[in-house]
Amino acid sequence: MKCPRCGRDDELYLRKYSGEILCRACLKNSILNKVRRTVGRHDLLERSCSLAYLKLHRPYDDLALDIFLDMERRFPEVSVDVIGLPDVGMEKVSIHLRDVIDYAFSSGYDRIVIPAFLEDVVVLFVRYIYTGSPELIFIDGIGYVMCHRTNPPIVSPFAEVMSKELVYLAGIDEKLTPMMKFVRRLEKDTPGALYNMYHSYHVLLKNSLNLS
Ligand SMILES: [Zn+2]
Repeated sequence: MKCPRCGRDDELYLRKYSGEILCRACLKNSILNKVRRTVGRHDLLERSCSLAYLKLHRPYDDLALDIFLDMERRFPEVSVDVIGLPDVGMEKVSIHLRDVIDYAFSSGYDRIVIPAFLEDVVVLFVRYIYTGSPELIFIDGIGYVMCHRTNPPIVSPFAEVMSKELVYLAGIDEKLTPMMKFVRRLEKDTPGALYNMYHSYHVLLKNSLNLS
């Protein structure tokens, strides 16, 4: 079938929350543009900064890193070091956060990049609701640990990208945690629910937590 956007003959993907129909190349391009927009809108990167990129071990993390490096080419003075966290998905990142922040601080990095996708940021928010402990919360692409910005700051350029789309592009199966199943199910039943949650929990948290 022909892609309505570029005319290419390819398998097509339906983005249910927006109704867009995209071929694989257009989907990847659209993801890249979302990453660029998030970085631009919230000034996540500066002209010359050195980044510690935390690479997790989910089946789409290689693709996430490729997309990030593609985006980063527009910032020639930015340097990126990739730091691998062994056997860690997003829900366990907070266990390592203190060490990661200390390491990034003592090594002189200007930012820590964590590939937290839309599903992840909603999972982190839901977990906070359940536990009452805001270990890691993303607002406007910036990570807050126990309500505080960290030094160096934690950023996620992927906060408005669905990992589901990378799973599709990478053609892989993933093992979902119960919380992730819940979040994916929410989006499946009500397309757009995750974007709505991400954009509305900001307001809720800014008014109820003492963020600094
Ligand atoms: Zn296309």
